[in-house]
Amino acid sequence: LSMFSALTDKLEDAFRKLRGLGKISESNVSDAMREIRLALLEADVDFKVTKDLVEAVKTRALGEEVLKTVTPGQQIVKIFHDELEKILGGGASELDLGPPQRILMVGLNGAGKTTTSAKLANWLKKQGKRPLLIALDLYRPAAVTQLQVLGQQLGVPVCVPAAGETDVVRATRAALAWLDQQGSGVAIFDTAGRQEVDDALLSELKKVRDLVQPNETLLVADAATGQQAVAVASKFHETVTITGLIMTKLDGDARGGALLSMRQVTGCPVKFIGVGEKVDQLEVFHPDRMAQRILG
Ligand code: GDP
Repeated sequence: LSMFSALTDKLEDAFRKLRGLGKISESNVSDAMREIRLALLEADVDFKVTKDLVEAVKTRALGEEVLKTVTPGQQIVKIFHDELEKILGGGASELDLGPPQRILMVGLNGAGKTTTSAKLANWLKKQGKRPLLIALDLYRPAAVTQLQVLGQQLGVPVCVPAAGETDVVRATRAALAWLDQQGSGVAIFDTAGRQEVDDALLSELKKVRDLVQPNETLLVADAATGQQAVAVASKFHETVTITGLIMTKLDGDARGGALLSMRQVTGCPVKFIGVGEKVDQLEVFHPDRMAQRILG
């Protein structure tokens, strides 16, 4: 992922230096950790997340008799990998697909909500499920059309709001009635976003959520927006309780620190990542594999 290439290069540098030393002293560890701390901050990782990660690695490296082993450098890389995996969330967080099988997609405009709704439908199909798409963005007719087109391409039924509908509660009720007629399936609700998080958006989302009673409320966040994505996620979580995150645009070349900060700052697991514009460019998020990718 190009998003992490600068970070990966710097981590490799720091670890190469450590590995190159026959014997490692406490001050070698401190130097390396200072370098790594800087690299993480430059990658736009949250300040506290960075501090905690570096402290944890340092404490373990100095405390577990690592320095007396034959390959201290390698041991420290492994400790770093473990701690990175931990901050990314540990194991993969699976999607809850129990009844009533409803997924509410929320997020700001442009984050990739509509695209990701279609990607998720495609993913569910591949899992042998029957996805259903519901367009609830009453403010952007283009988003409704976009979902219709994507649904058609995927062979997935799409529910669209009545022409000229402006009442989101009425539109949601109509969508639930449509769903009743469709038989069983996993319903994905693509909701309206805004340019920024505001009270109007949140109170509307609450109404939709209370009607839909979803098992999953997934926030779609643009990784390229960095720390702002983390702040947005925290705000959504405070008011509408997010059950998981989907980080999009990890294929971009912006700094990728948001992905590393998300879990620790918001307490919500990242469940999927978007790695391109195409409908099959969605991946289940595996913290261990991501830690490996970041380490290069
Ligand atoms: P919405 O306003 O949140 O519904 O956003 P859209 O689904 O319309 O997406 C906004 C733009 O981001 C579109 O041009 C998408 O193709 C693009 N996009 C979404 N996800 C990704 C991704 O993972 N990678 C890249 N490169 N582009 C993405």
